[in-house]
Amino acid sequence: MFDLKEKVAVVTGGNGGIGLGMARGLAAAGARVVVAARDQAKSRAAVEELARLGPGAFALAVDVADESSVEALVRATVERCGRLDILVNNAGINIRKRPEEYTLAEWRQVLDTNLTSVFLCARAAYPVMKGGGGGKIINVGSMMSIFGASFVPAYGASKGGLVQLTKALAAAWARDNIQVNAVLPGWIDTALTRQARREIPGLEDSVLRRTPAGRWGLIDDLAGIAAFLASPASDFVTGTAIPVDGGYSIQG
Ligand code: NDP
Repeated sequence: MFDLKEKVAVVTGGNGGIGLGMARGLAAAGARVVVAARDQAKSRAAVEELARLGPGAFALAVDVADESSVEALVRATVERCGRLDILVNNAGINIRKRPEEYTLAEWRQVLDTNLTSVFLCARAAYPVMKGGGGGKIINVGSMMSIFGASFVPAYGASKGGLVQLTKALAAAWARDNIQVNAVLPGWIDTALTRQARREIPGLEDSVLRRTPAGRWGLIDDLAGIAAFLASPASDFVTGTAIPVDGGYSIQG
């Protein structure tokens, strides 16, 4: 039910943080993983690690905010593997500032990287998945898909939009046997949140206080949900947004 043997998975931002945690889950379940990100030194290290877990991995350079780069990524994956079954849209950034301090360029950078990228990657993958008889798309949202905060005008807009885009894609492509779901991670210990903890006084403790599990998440906490949403076990699950947050979102 959870077997991903013979499957090919592209994970954007798979060279570190949550993307690497999800890639580990996919590799351990038998998928060949394409690590798609910008920093090739980081990607090489991730590929070495993933190759030890599963049937093999390789890296392709991509800027997810760039249409031609995304199309080249999908073309290169198909040339090398002959198929593309699983797409994890995980790459993302944040620029933490109050709305009145945001420049238009910063707004566009966050929206392009976090939201437009999901549209571009999914659109490029669609004909390949459809031609292969189906596929799985997993989009990485955030607690900011649900909640608001003064320092995330663009990030919150991108992650809220990502959930609605997930529903639109799920509705459009269900008849092609393509399931599209979002995962909403809680506070996970990664480079992104280490920076947030430096920038936002009291964040470390307020997350601990509010999370019923009583800890920050680890990247491996995202491995199981990735394997589930990529596998036949979730064939009738589509258009959902599933929190993986140690209970953070259930408390007022
Ligand atoms: P990291 O900063 O560790 O990882 C971000 C990843 O995105 C990197 O692998 C980076 O690789 C890649 N990336 C960024 N911009 C681009 C781009 N233009 N093109 C291709 N790849 C890009 O952060 P996290 O692991 O924490 O974040 C991963 C996702 O999870 C993001 O979407 C984030 O919003 C989300 N998230 C994180 C949470 C957390 O608590 N950590 C909570 C909720 C959601 P490279 O630099 O090599 O391109």
